Amino acid sequence: MKVAVRVSVAVVIVLAGFLTPAAAQSLRLEDLHVVDWHAHTAGLGYGGSGAFVNEEMRENFRFQFFLRWVGVTERELEAEGDQLVIKRISEYIARSRLVDQLVVLAMDGIVDRNTGLLDERRTQIYVPNDFVAREVAKYPNLLFGASINPNRPDAIERLEQAASQGAVLVKWLPSIMDIDPSDESFIPFYRRMAALNIPLLSHAGMEKSFAHARDELSDPMKLLLPLKHGVTVIAAHMAATGRSEGQDNFERLLSILPAYPNFYADISSLTQINRLGYLVKALNIPWTIDHMIYGTDWPLQHFPVVSPWFHVKHIGLANAWRISGIRNLWDRDVALKQALGVPDHVFTRIVGVLANRVPKPSN
Ligand SMILES: [Zn+2]
Repeated sequence: MKVAVRVSVAVVIVLAGFLTPAAAQSLRLEDLHVVDWHAHTAGLGYGGSGAFVNEEMRENFRFQFFLRWVGVTERELEAEGDQLVIKRISEYIARSRLVDQLVVLAMDGIVDRNTGLLDERRTQIYVPNDFVAREVAKYPNLLFGASINPNRPDAIERLEQAASQGAVLVKWLPSIMDIDPSDESFIPFYRRMAALNIPLLSHAGMEKSFAHARDELSDPMKLLLPLKHGVTVIAAHMAATGRSEGQDNFERLLSILPAYPNFYADISSLTQINRLGYLVKALNIPWTIDHMIYGTDWPLQHFPVVSPWFHVKHIGLANAWRISGIRNLWDRDVALKQALGVPDHVFTRIVGVLANRVPKPSN
């Protein structure tokens, strides 16, 4: 009897020792506030959204994938409006066990320097701020990510407007929107961003989701200017992929990241097939963890772009099997990143103006 008790106690202790890190981690995360800082929407102008996707991108196979991944058809968008995409995101997040809120990103376009107007011919995808602000306001689990091309003559007014609509960040895709973040004429815009405590989420590294891109504008070094003017900057995808001035963009980012406490890098899309290995590499450098922000880059979360099986080398077969069985894509993404070694405090990190709004965990 005594032996049996001792054996079962020993089994429990061994099991507890074996299970505790992962089990405790996911249990704790469930009770904490997790925000996905990087998710996309798009539209075709239905329901008065003002959004568009240009001919080239529409014919491009990527847009058909986008609709399929979002879980809508063009006919549904026509009937219910582009807002259906945002409604779907809210429903997916409501079903997530681990992720509580998500930032839906607007997308400004290329601005014609002569007229100061949107260059509709060269803009590949456009999602207006007003549309995103209006729609996310309907769902408590969604947040407004504004997008303002600083080349617009009224960029600062647009920034004030976005702030009053609850924007938690400004998103840029420099290589797609034709923005050079190191352009000194943007300094007044940066100062206003810093004063409003609105972070800049700027794409860094090569861009592959569009028909064409000016990749030289995605050099992470170009983000030094907003950083120097006090802006909280988040380099998307840890600048993984591509090179600038003969140096790997990821290495370039890591070389400047520790110098700025207001400099972060999001870990969105780092589980994608074209960015394998970067996250594990970054996690091996302990100080990088203090600069990581959680994001998915939804809807780029589906096979063949993302799969836990791509990561067997790092997470093992049992984890790959377990994670591939998780239905909700956000819970699956968190589980995969946890298995790769991302600690809880990365998932719960809140920066900028949003920190004043989200209640601090009581424990
Ligand atoms: Zn993205």
